[in-house]
Amino acid sequence: MSRRFSDRAWADEAVRKINAENNRSADTHLYSVPLPEHWGVQLYLKDESTHRSGSLKHRLARSLFLFGLVNGWIREGTTIVEASSGSTAVSEAYFAQLLGLPFIAVMTRTTSPEKIALIEQFGGACLLVDHASEVYAAAAEVAATSGGHYMDQFTYAERATDWRGNNNIAESIFEQLALEEHPVPRWIVVGAGTGGTSATIGRYLRYHRHHTSLAVVDPENSAFYPGWRSGAADFSTGQPSRIEGIGRPRMEPSFVPSVIDHMIQVPDAASVAAM
Ligand SMILES: *Cc1c(COP(=O)(O)O)cnc(C)c1O
Repeated sequence: MSRRFSDRAWADEAVRKINAENNRSADTHLYSVPLPEHWGVQLYLKDESTHRSGSLKHRLARSLFLFGLVNGWIREGTTIVEASSGSTAVSEAYFAQLLGLPFIAVMTRTTSPEKIALIEQFGGACLLVDHASEVYAAAAEVAATSGGHYMDQFTYAERATDWRGNNNIAESIFEQLALEEHPVPRWIVVGAGTGGTSATIGRYLRYHRHHTSLAVVDPENSAFYPGWRSGAADFSTGQPSRIEGIGRPRMEPSFVPSVIDHMIQVPDAASVAAM
């Protein structure tokens, strides 16, 4: 039997395991949040925190694993390496364990001990570096020296998810709004970490020709807001964001500015107050 055939058999089984995990799982809630009636605004919050891996990056991790499998990048025994601020690594550690693959997360020393504990609980290892801008090169090097695969969420997030539908977050939101008074929202507002969620929602809105605009909120120190405003695809602040999960020191390749209708730079104090 050829080696290629046995590789395919392992990958077939891995895809089945990931899809079976999804089939066993319920969707996340869309909460209706009552506001004063005279505001004339209906607000809904999509709560991505209740996924099985305990991290809101569950959909992204699933998409990245499936993309790596169908590309033939992830095979039996492949060490998975990722640069992360923590949440993606938690979900990826979960899927790596599901497939029996070694997992190494490259993160900054400031990553919360809770996230490190979760990654280790799922059998992953953590490599901690000093600065947020170092994680990319460190992860690429670990992957190269271990013969592993660098997932590279900050490049592949926007293309690993099917923007037409296929159970992506935008389709989930629109299905859950279907019986509301206004099933097509005026605005969808989202933060950006990789930019994958905003890319998926923006493309979905255009593909389905919904009259919904997309707004992206960005914290202080992040390169996304100034990069989007100025049109500079290589804008960099070199500064870490204080708000977990969103805001990046550089314009990430997976951030797609052209699908965004409006951006708002939110003071960090306001972000913390809202939480
Ligand atoms: C990752 C993240 C986002 C945005 O997701 P991306 O698809 O990576 O841009 C938004 N909010 C929080 C809290 C996150 O952790």
